[in-house]
Amino acid sequence: NPVIVAIDGPSGTGKSSTSKAVAAKLGLSYLDTGAQYRAMTWWMLSNGVDVNDSAAVATAAEKPVIVSGADPAAPTITVDGVDASGPIRTQEVTAAVSAVSAVPEVRTRLVGLQRDAAAGAPGGIVVEGRDIGTTVLPDATVKIFLTASAEARAARRGGELKATGGAQVDLVATREALVRRDAADSGRKTSPLAKADDAIEVDTSELTLDQVIECVVTLIEE
Ligand code: C5P
Repeated sequence: NPVIVAIDGPSGTGKSSTSKAVAAKLGLSYLDTGAQYRAMTWWMLSNGVDVNDSAAVATAAEKPVIVSGADPAAPTITVDGVDASGPIRTQEVTAAVSAVSAVPEVRTRLVGLQRDAAAGAPGGIVVEGRDIGTTVLPDATVKIFLTASAEARAARRGGELKATGGAQVDLVATREALVRRDAADSGRKTSPLAKADDAIEVDTSELTLDQVIECVVTLIEE
């Protein structure tokens, strides 16, 4: 049977790096569901949809054609055939994504794409997100829930921003922005960030990326 791995948790826990590396090591496909919510958000912003008007977002939710490439060594995402990997990482998209992903029609559409991707991955897949173990793939073979202290997460996000932007990073502001987005993600009624009862929690605060990868690979192989 194909191995289905659900990896959930907030941002700054090393979720993406871990998920990609684990998929590559085990020869599995890879899906970043956060990238899909970002792609949906980018489409809304690009097409003049008011992201705070949930009725307008709901109506538009079925329009963008979102395609995710499943190779963990080179993940891709296109929206209406256009490469969206750069635009979905902008501050503008990051600031709007919680509002868009709270709209039930958006979730229904993307959860459908995510289940199709898992069903269509011949050798198995690693799917990362917030609600994979609870909602998207409740029958996943292995469920991992990554956590880290707010300090560790802000430090990692700071490092990422420095790596991409080259600018000075204010760790306190980064930490506050993370905490705000988590609160927005977990406080809403539709699909809060949640640990499934049968998920294995891994606190990554004191671990290197290699140690987290090794830990997750061991859990999958057990
Ligand atoms: O993982 P990433 O930080 O890129 O996700 C961006 C946003 O997409 C999250 O802050 C959350 O609002 C939303 N999201 C979600 N459900 C998922 C994955 C992401 O609501 N499964």
